[in-house]
Amino acid sequence: MTNSQVELITIGDELLLGFTVDTNAAHISRTLAAAGVEVVRRTTVGDEADKIAAAVGEALERTGAVITTGGLGPTSDDLTKPAIAKIFGRSMKLDEEIASALEQRWRARFPNSRFPATNRSQAEIPEGARVLTNRHGSAPGIWLEDDKGRWVAMIPGVPREMRGMLAEEVLPRIKVVAGGSENAIISETLRTTGIAESAIAELLGPNVLGEQDTETGSLSLAYLPGIAGVDLRVTAKRLAPARAEKLVREAIEKLRSLVSAYVYGEDDTDLAAVVLEKCRSLGLKLAVAESCTGGLLGERITNIPGSSDVFLGGVIAYHDDVKRQALDVRAEEIERYGAVSEQVALQMASGVRKKLGADIGVSITGIAGPGGGTPEKPVGLVWIAVDAWETKAQRFHLIGDRAEIRQRAAQAALEIVRRALSNG
Ligand code: ATP
Ligand code: MG
Repeated sequence: MTNSQVELITIGDELLLGFTVDTNAAHISRTLAAAGVEVVRRTTVGDEADKIAAAVGEALERTGAVITTGGLGPTSDDLTKPAIAKIFGRSMKLDEEIASALEQRWRARFPNSRFPATNRSQAEIPEGARVLTNRHGSAPGIWLEDDKGRWVAMIPGVPREMRGMLAEEVLPRIKVVAGGSENAIISETLRTTGIAESAIAELLGPNVLGEQDTETGSLSLAYLPGIAGVDLRVTAKRLAPARAEKLVREAIEKLRSLVSAYVYGEDDTDLAAVVLEKCRSLGLKLAVAESCTGGLLGERITNIPGSSDVFLGGVIAYHDDVKRQALDVRAEEIERYGAVSEQVALQMASGVRKKLGADIGVSITGIAGPGGGTPEKPVGLVWIAVDAWETKAQRFHLIGDRAEIRQRAAQAALEIVRRALSNG
C-alpha cells in the first residue's frame, strides 16, 4: 500500500479521565510529520476490548494504516492485542521465544522471585504477526497486516518505550510500506510578541500566502496565540521535500517582512535567550526588579544556560518597604501614585541598575489578581520600565488568570529590553 496517511489510536482509561495527558499522540504526530507521513485522525479509547476493536476496525476501513499505543502490558486492563487479532480473524498463540526472553529478563531483575504467570501473557502474539522488538521495556510490539496490505502497529503506552520503538521499529517499516514517499510535511514557526492575533491578521491581510489546498499539495498558515505571544506557523503538505522546504522558507520571510517589529525568533526560540545573546554581543550586564512577578523574570533568564555572563541578579521587591530600602524608590512617590505606577516602575528600574552596577535595569510592578483591582487600577494592570541609555515605562493591561498575567508580564519585560537593545 503506497499510502502516507496514518490514523493514531491511544488506549487507556487514564487518558479518557484526563489523569494522563496524551503526550504519545503529540509525539507520534510530530515524528511522523517530520518523516512525511501524515496523521489524519487521532482517537482515544478506554481499556475495553469492544471499544478498541471498534476504533481500530473503523480506522482500518478509512485509512488502512493504524498505530496504537497502550494496553500491551501484563495486567488485566491490557486488551489491545486480542481485540485487534479478532478483527483480523487471527487467534492468539504463545510465542515460546518471547516467553523465555521475558522470563530471563525477569530472573535477571528479581533473582529470588518466581516468574508470574500473568507475565507470560505478554508473549501471546496474534497468528501471522510480526514481533516488534522492545529494547526499552518488556512488552514487545506487534505489526499485523492483512492480504490487502492494511496494517496495525501496536506499541506500548509507556512514553519512553513508545518513543524508542516508534523510531527503531515502526517508522522504518511505515516508510517501506509507503514506498519511499515523495511527500513531506514541513513546518516552520515565526514567533511574535506584543501584538494581538487580530492585529497581526490585519497587518497580513487575507490569504497572505495565497494558501491553497489541492490534490497536489498545500501551503497553510496557522495563528497560534499563547502566553509568549502569537506564533505564526507555516506548513507545507503533500509536496516533494525540496519544494516544500523552499515554499515554507519563502512564506516565513514574507511574513517576517510584514510584522518584523514584533518578531523575536523562529521555531522554539525563547525570548530570554534572544535578549541574553544581544546583551552578550554588546557586552552589557542586566539586572531585574520584580514586584508582582516575584522572581519569574529572573527564572526565565537564569533558565537559559550561560546566563551568568550577562545577568547580574535581581531584587524581588514585593513589599513597599523593600522597594524603598533595596531600590531607593521614594516613599512620597509610592504614597502619591501607588506602587503600581509609571513613577514607581521607573524608579525600580533605575534603582536596581545602580544598586547592582548593571547597564540595563528592568522592572515590573502590577496587579496580578484575583483581588486588589479597582476601577482606576484593574487586575492585569502592569507597569514595566527599562533604564539604560534610554529610560522608559510602558503600561500594559494583561489578560488571564493570576498565573497568566504574571507570565505575560515577564514576557513583556523581556520584549521591552529586546526593543531597547534594538534601538540602542
Ligand atoms: P506496560 O507494559 O508498562 O503495561 P502498556 O503498553 O500496557 O505498558 P499502559 O499500561 O497503557 O501501557 O500505560 C503505561 C504507562 O504509560 C502509564 O503510566 C500511562 O499513564 C502511560 N501512558 C499510556 N498511554 C499514554 C499516552 N498516550 N500518553 C502519555 N502517557 C501514556
Ligand atoms: Mg494499561
